Amino acid sequence: MSKTKRAYVCNDCGADYPRWQGQCSACGSWNTITEVRLAASPQVARAEKYAGYAGAAEAKVQTLSAIDLQEVPRFTSGFKELDRVLGGGIVPGAAILIGGSPGAGKSTLLLQTMCWLASQMPTLYVTGEESLQQVAMRAERLGLPKDKLKMLSETNVETICQIARQEQPKIMVIDSIQVMHCADVASAPGSVAQVRESAAALTRMPSSITLRFSWWVT
Ligand SMILES: [Zn+2]
Repeated sequence: MSKTKRAYVCNDCGADYPRWQGQCSACGSWNTITEVRLAASPQVARAEKYAGYAGAAEAKVQTLSAIDLQEVPRFTSGFKELDRVLGGGIVPGAAILIGGSPGAGKSTLLLQTMCWLASQMPTLYVTGEESLQQVAMRAERLGLPKDKLKMLSETNVETICQIARQEQPKIMVIDSIQVMHCADVASAPGSVAQVRESAAALTRMPSSITLRFSWWVT
């Protein structure tokens, strides 16, 4: 019943091609192009695939002057410095990528933030790199409140989206995006194709606010 659409994506630069080729024309790398299968019963899949982007509920043309300039209310992360780099707080519906070299403290910062936010709203922390015990031990060491934050150990994006739909978190952390995988994508977790599809699937979820990305930033 499902017609499968294929695309070929370069794992180095993310360029895509209608058919496989040995060398990527965009970046010149050899043997980096892998097949990506996009599940498609066309209309439904397409509508769902792009729903939720840019916060648009329906397609409608309007003049610039008619656009409501009222600022989207942000909520505080509980950390002044984090709020500052986010432009004054977290915007509902936004997907935020936290990057940094290994050991920089991304997980610690997000765990502190989530433990604090959990007392005010439904939260979900998805860990794919560390075990639940490791995360709980870190929270214990830091003396963080552990009674409200909901935890999930999972790397399958479809499962995460399904659970998130039930749990309805206001804020969700994905730790980290490069270990997540979509069943429809043939390449390995961490590849450009997987990261791209996983991030796209999570961004489409209205409840997904925060994504963690721990590719190195130098
Ligand atoms: Zn390339």
